[in-house]
Amino acid sequence: MSDCLFCQIVAGTIPSTRVAESENALAFNDVAPHAKVHVLVVPKTHVESANQLDETNASVLGEMVLLAQQVAQVTGVRESGYRLVMNVGADAMMSVAHLHLHVLGGQALSGRLG
Ligand code: AMP
Repeated sequence: MSDCLFCQIVAGTIPSTRVAESENALAFNDVAPHAKVHVLVVPKTHVESANQLDETNASVLGEMVLLAQQVAQVTGVRESGYRLVMNVGADAMMSVAHLHLHVLGGQALSGRLG
């Protein structure tokens, strides 16, 4: 999708600080971090959100979690712990309509989920 922000980051037409990559997923630093470590993991192919996953494309989610593990390793939070967050839709305040996993860590995170 040519007008999708994260598709343009995957294509390299919008700059990002890449942290890790796998065949079908890319990890890059969040531009407005909410924690010392805040990395986004996205599928390289456009999927709007978890609501659009189905039998044909859901396997990318496993690949995204494996890439998040790599992110945790290279950013040094794999042992200290980290939070994986996925917003879906308006009430979750999803702001970019391209499936993404937030990897948050590097500090003690709030105990609150919402
Ligand atoms: P969400 O609110 O779950 O949709 O998360 C979208 C995230 O994308 C936010 O945390 C933003 O800070 C982040 N973001 C927006 N634009 C960029 C960008 N150009 N590069 C990296 N992260 C971005």
